[in-house]
Amino acid sequence: MNKPALLDRHRQRLFDAPATAADPIGIYIHIPFCSHICPYCDFNTYAGKESLIPSYLDALQCETAFWARDFGGRRAQSIFIGGGTPSLLNPKQIRGLLDTCRAEFSMEKGAEVTIESNPNDVSLRYCVGLLEAGVNRISIGAQTLDRPGLRVLGRLHESDTVSSAVSAARDAGFANVSLDLIYGWPGQSIATWHNDLGQIMGGAIGGSIPDHLSLYGLIIEPGTPMADAVTRGILSPVDEDTSADFAELAASLLAAAGWIHYEIANWCAAPRNASVHNALYWRNGDYAGIGAGAHGHAGQLRTMNQPSPARYTKVVSSGESPRTNFEIIDANTDKVETMLLGLRLIQDGVSLDRFQSRHGISLEAHFGTQIAHLRDQGLLECDEHSVRLTVRGAMVANTVCAEFL
Ligand code: SF4
Repeated sequence: MNKPALLDRHRQRLFDAPATAADPIGIYIHIPFCSHICPYCDFNTYAGKESLIPSYLDALQCETAFWARDFGGRRAQSIFIGGGTPSLLNPKQIRGLLDTCRAEFSMEKGAEVTIESNPNDVSLRYCVGLLEAGVNRISIGAQTLDRPGLRVLGRLHESDTVSSAVSAARDAGFANVSLDLIYGWPGQSIATWHNDLGQIMGGAIGGSIPDHLSLYGLIIEPGTPMADAVTRGILSPVDEDTSADFAELAASLLAAAGWIHYEIANWCAAPRNASVHNALYWRNGDYAGIGAGAHGHAGQLRTMNQPSPARYTKVVSSGESPRTNFEIIDANTDKVETMLLGLRLIQDGVSLDRFQSRHGISLEAHFGTQIAHLRDQGLLECDEHSVRLTVRGAMVANTVCAEFL
């Protein structure tokens, strides 16, 4: 296969990476409910517990106030309602959560507000309700447009449902629509992947081209029903080389269409469509992690909440903290995380100035040996602003990152 057209692109700086303590924070809200559990899923989510939703939402609102107090007035630039399946909530419930965020935090004007959604839930009326509630970015979990693929992935929608969802989002007025796709599922061929991407980039899905794509290589996690099916020989996993071919095909098609590969798994049609919220994670920034099993990051503190929604709700409603784990991030770990996360940002990489101002030491002084070694192998490139993965480095990002551990 030819090298991706990505080789010829010009870098476009989208963010200042890494974040510093002066940067605004993000707010993540976890909705741990799904109508059924997909066989590859290892997220913190539960089916058949929707009756817990009303009391769970009350608990989320209480925890939002805890976090606002902890962050002491720092501005928030984004809200991300993820899951699970947040689109199981109705627009009134979403508005309640957003109203609480707006009351407790000082939100930046035009803050990005994203909801993850299941295509089955995304009607015109639903989208209008979301926009009225203050959501301005919708991420639709398409995963694939291939019918056998949808069945292998255990999804309950069809490609037509994805089309209807995109069309509903556009008709309602969403100007920032993202699709999630999975590649490398058992049985997938290059031809089916090409077909998925071709339909999407040709505007055949819902009559418009999305503004953003998240492309995830399937990882078959131990303990999932899909891993069990592989062990029993019912499904055959895609090998690493083939998975790399899928990634190269996507890189080639999207770069040819002028899209920006701004993070290892994420592409946007224009800089304004890059995910502000997720970029905060990759910039090693601070964010509130609200809800069952949510992770938060505040300065040198990393938090993790009680994963069970029932226990989470009980603890929060009795006025106690839902945090079951926390970790003090030492200075060395913080530098490593800045490096590993920042390298995921294909365009921006790790800014020399920002590294110095955040960590009080230059990137050269701290990681100079590793950077030189990886640069000599053609896996990193450097200029007076930043250190970044090369195209070849992005294909073996895990190997590159291991050098900094
Ligand atoms: S819809 Fe998403 S979160 Fe829910 S079970 Fe499927 S993969 Fe997991």
